[in-house]
Amino acid sequence: MINPFNLAKAIEKEVCRNGSKKFYRFRKTRFYGGCATADCLGCNLRCAYCWAQKKVWNPARYGEFYTPDAVSEKLDRMNFSLVRISGGEPTLCKKYLRELVSLIPEDKLFILETNGILLDENFVRELSKFKNLYVRVSLKGVDERTFEKITGAEGKFFYNQINTLDLLKKYDIKHRAAILINLFTESQINNLGIPNLEYETLIDYPFVQKNLKKRGIEVMRV
Ligand code: SF4
Repeated sequence: MINPFNLAKAIEKEVCRNGSKKFYRFRKTRFYGGCATADCLGCNLRCAYCWAQKKVWNPARYGEFYTPDAVSEKLDRMNFSLVRISGGEPTLCKKYLRELVSLIPEDKLFILETNGILLDENFVRELSKFKNLYVRVSLKGVDERTFEKITGAEGKFFYNQINTLDLLKKYDIKHRAAILINLFTESQINNLGIPNLEYETLIDYPFVQKNLKKRGIEVMRV
């Protein structure tokens, strides 16, 4: 079973170097009504349904290193009022993330899409000074068991995700939790008791279907 903190440490050595971080794509996307997106490499989980796994899990083979200045400039040039980091896990290399958010003009909203596991209280407190930040936490399970099956990580880390939502609330950071609707029953999702949940849907590429089957994960609704 993966320990997401240990994996994060190992992957950070590959994706962060001399103040730069590895990204594999910059693109205009339709999400949130249109936003400039930078796709980073590296993640501290191994989700069975990860659509970006080919690149995100193999950072040594893909992408290039960019300074925070270079990334903010590329995002700025796309001319959207929303910018986001997607692809892998953006909270790897916290110093880099802090610097990048600080470079995003205040009239643009920075959307941080994260699994939330690495967001401890100190870091959430630091992030709370950025008023143009919105955090979207993608929940990977409804309990320890489902989290473990889906992510390949020890089930106890499910509570880090829940704890992060509490911290975001405590420090008054705009946020929302999201969950993949296809893998859980309605009552499992309702039992979480998380308000205003956003529903994600599975992108069922053949390799995703294969991975889910291998881990014994049933797709409930399509
Ligand atoms: S957290 Fe996201 S990027 Fe990481 S493995 Fe899961 S789906 Fe892929």
